[in-house]
Amino acid sequence: MPSLAPADAPIPTTAPRNGRRPDKVVVIGAGPGGLAAALMLAHAGLDVHVVERLPRVGGRCSAIEADGFRFDLGPTFFLYPLVLERIFKLIGRDLHAEIPMVRLDPQYRLKFGSGGQLDCTPDVARMQAEIARLSPADAQNLQRYLAENRHKLESFRPVLERPFLGWRDLLRWDLVKLLPILRPWKSIDGELGRYFADPRVRLAFTFQSKYLGMSPFNCPSLFSILSFLEYEYGVWHPYGGCAAVSEGMARIAAEMGVKFSLGEEVEEVLFDGRRAVGVRTAAGEYRADAVVINADFAGAMTRLVPDRLRRRWTDAKIARKQFSCSTFMLYLGIDGRYDALPHHTVYTADDYMANLGDIEVRHTLTADTSFYVQNAGVTDPGLAPKGMSTLYVLAPVTHKHPNVDWAKEAPRFRAQLIRQLEKVGVTDLERRIRFERMVTPDDWESKYAVHRGATFNLAHTFGQMLHLRPRNRFEDLDGVYLVGGGTHPGSGLPVIYESARITARLLLADFGRGPAWLGVPGAKEIPGPVAAR
Ligand SMILES: Cc1cc2nc3c(=O)[nH]c(=O)nc-3n(C[C@H](O)[C@H](O)[C@H](O)COP(=O)(O)OP(=O)(O)OC[C@H]3O[C@@H](n4cnc5c(N)ncnc54)[C@H](O)[C@@H]3O)c2cc1C
Repeated sequence: MPSLAPADAPIPTTAPRNGRRPDKVVVIGAGPGGLAAALMLAHAGLDVHVVERLPRVGGRCSAIEADGFRFDLGPTFFLYPLVLERIFKLIGRDLHAEIPMVRLDPQYRLKFGSGGQLDCTPDVARMQAEIARLSPADAQNLQRYLAENRHKLESFRPVLERPFLGWRDLLRWDLVKLLPILRPWKSIDGELGRYFADPRVRLAFTFQSKYLGMSPFNCPSLFSILSFLEYEYGVWHPYGGCAAVSEGMARIAAEMGVKFSLGEEVEEVLFDGRRAVGVRTAAGEYRADAVVINADFAGAMTRLVPDRLRRRWTDAKIARKQFSCSTFMLYLGIDGRYDALPHHTVYTADDYMANLGDIEVRHTLTADTSFYVQNAGVTDPGLAPKGMSTLYVLAPVTHKHPNVDWAKEAPRFRAQLIRQLEKVGVTDLERRIRFERMVTPDDWESKYAVHRGATFNLAHTFGQMLHLRPRNRFEDLDGVYLVGGGTHPGSGLPVIYESARITARLLLADFGRGPAWLGVPGAKEIPGPVAAR
């Protein structure tokens, strides 16, 4: 049995080729992970070139703009800004000055198909009163839930902030000590049963597993910190939507000298043996000392890197992996406004278990589907022309599967979703639609290069997390690094930004660039602001 490594053991590095410092890094993809990595690597003095296949930045966190309406394509909940605040501080910027945002209260409404609703607020006394309307006994336990999850997050944060380069990293003292707190043998629903008896109240603190594309009944219990993050650190709305964060990051990166090639798809990563030496697009070759892949992991690996070069993540292995659910999307520009509808509303199906089973096990569609609708105009009227507003509607559905032929099902599912919206008070909708765009799992794959349309990447099961997730310093190749939802720590904006800090640290350490300025994983404070190198 090997001895346990101390929590603060130094990160092992791989020797840079010829001991040379890298001059040039190509980042494949301008999603949140790619942009965050570009900011930190450029600040470290590297020559950074971001190559993005779409004509605009942001990836799944970009905007749809048409006819005077503006929608977020994907993320609408901006959670735990602390991670990006720190990255901005490291590069000498102030997140809130660069990208104005507002904390929402109520943060969202939950409407239960089984009856009742909750207007969830970070104000603990008001939230207790809300819970008491459904279940007086459960209201008393909110404080205990918050206190225990505060401790859990503080204990787990160092784990989220450091790389997992092999199974030995599991044997670090800080992780072993966490087992009684993390209870990895429990699901998030089982864990929340320790606090709340009413299934609707439990749902209010577990539905967030859907942010990872997973059912609360399968999702590991450690993710109870997701709902805690909302109550403790807030649900934020960046003005202009979450896409405005991506756009702001790209603007700052460009000011720092990062080069962007938009509308240019990487067709191949170039290798000398097993070492990446650049990328090829239709426009030509870009040589680089290191390649950072932000593109969807499974899609990028299978298309851009020859199978024969990969030892662990072969095409056959990727095909056997578990993938998250997908989403069916409607982006609607509306004549008038729905002022009684809050900024965020989540409707959970009457038979929530059956709906989850359809998504994850049977791979079929549900008539009484759960859905989420964003009515951002109540906070941010600038997203639509005067007298109009936007509705963003998301239904979680199976990732691409032969059971569902979207070419046939999409119109029927759309009509059904429009009827479902009446359950949260969105009536008389069809007549008022002035702009409409629909995105199905097929579109996520074909238009947005998301493998199997699995919008939240590889599922976050214990068998696909930590050192078992594709690693930030990609283990199969030299000079290749990963950032984004497909690598450690996982999907969701805060951890995606954190993945970029982990990756930047590894890359800079490998090339002898001294990553200490990026801070120590788990430290309460970061060193910054740090002068550009
Ligand atoms: C519908 C939806 C809702 C979500 N809601 C939330 C939420 O509310 N809050 C939250 O925190 N998270 C949410 N997420 C999850 C996650 O935060 C986002 O998906 C996030 O954008 C993922 O970031 P990423 O860095 O992994 O890469 P992506 O955003 O996927 O960006 C990858 C980029 O790589 C590009 N690319 C791919 N292949 C190539 C190639 N060959 N050459 C060049 N470029 C390439 C793509 O075009 C893309 O721009 C949501 C996701 C979806 C889809």
